Amino acid sequence: MSEYRVLLYYKYVPIENPEELTKEHLAFCKELGLLGRILISHEGINGTVSGTVEQTDKYIEAMRQDPRFSDTIFKIDEADGHAFKKMHVRHKKELVNLSLEDDVDPLKLTGKHLKPAEFYEKMQDPDTIVIDARNDYEYDLGHFRGAIKPEIETFRELPQWIKENKDILEGKKILTYCTGGVRCEKFSGWLMKEGFEDVSQLDGGIVTYGKDPEVQGELWDGQCYVFDQRISVPVNQKEHVIVGRDFFTGEPCERYVNCANPECNRKMLCSEENEEKYMRSCSHECRTHPRNFYVKQHGLTQEQVEARVKEIAQWEEESKVM
Ligand SMILES: [Zn+2]
Repeated sequence: MSEYRVLLYYKYVPIENPEELTKEHLAFCKELGLLGRILISHEGINGTVSGTVEQTDKYIEAMRQDPRFSDTIFKIDEADGHAFKKMHVRHKKELVNLSLEDDVDPLKLTGKHLKPAEFYEKMQDPDTIVIDARNDYEYDLGHFRGAIKPEIETFRELPQWIKENKDILEGKKILTYCTGGVRCEKFSGWLMKEGFEDVSQLDGGIVTYGKDPEVQGELWDGQCYVFDQRISVPVNQKEHVIVGRDFFTGEPCERYVNCANPECNRKMLCSEENEEKYMRSCSHECRTHPRNFYVKQHGLTQEQVEARVKEIAQWEEESKVM
């Protein structure tokens, strides 16, 4: 039996003194011994925390006692240890970063919530379009089969992308999904405000879909990116199709690393072998950056770096010829 758990949850509810609650909540989480990341804003709470079964039980119990959070749904994953190194509770203007000029209140306007089995059915309707409401690196590791990947780097660019690509969505039934559901609450509401009529969202997000005993994650390809040390969790219990591709070679890959240039930090899917070959750096500029972590970690000399850079240039030349 696992002794640790990871809780993923959110609740849109008006909070009168978010800054005060942020301080209180941080003290409370620290007292319990939880680790994780929680955002609090005037519109609610959104968090992922890890702890022992006892610690997480106490946390859930305390949330149940608070009338604002009493009906919060907790998605619970078993774990072998903590999924975070620290405990952060931060006050934010928005619960999710959509940066809307004219904000949407999901308590007043949001897409229809579909249970996993309903989402599974509707996803296969030819008049339906499924939009992934996450960042590009999340999509790249795994997504619903046939889902549209908006050509954006971050969630906050999504409204603009929709405005520029309205024709794809015109007259279609729209389905949106994200990791745990918090982003879709707002995004689907925004779509309705933009005039799209048939808008639905996956209730409980991908994480709930993967645990659902009926659908068992079916029609999901790859893994689900998560914002903690686990980096990814499985979704489809019936089959595992790898959609991730190695940044350097394009081979199937589900392993994320960050570019070793601290100023770049780009997320790249790459094998252990290619991480070493390419010095965990996404470009020539990053490889030769004076503060490159990989160079430091491996104690490489200037000559060694230069030799490797030459080799890489040669491989790149060869791959162009092919
Ligand atoms: Zn880089």
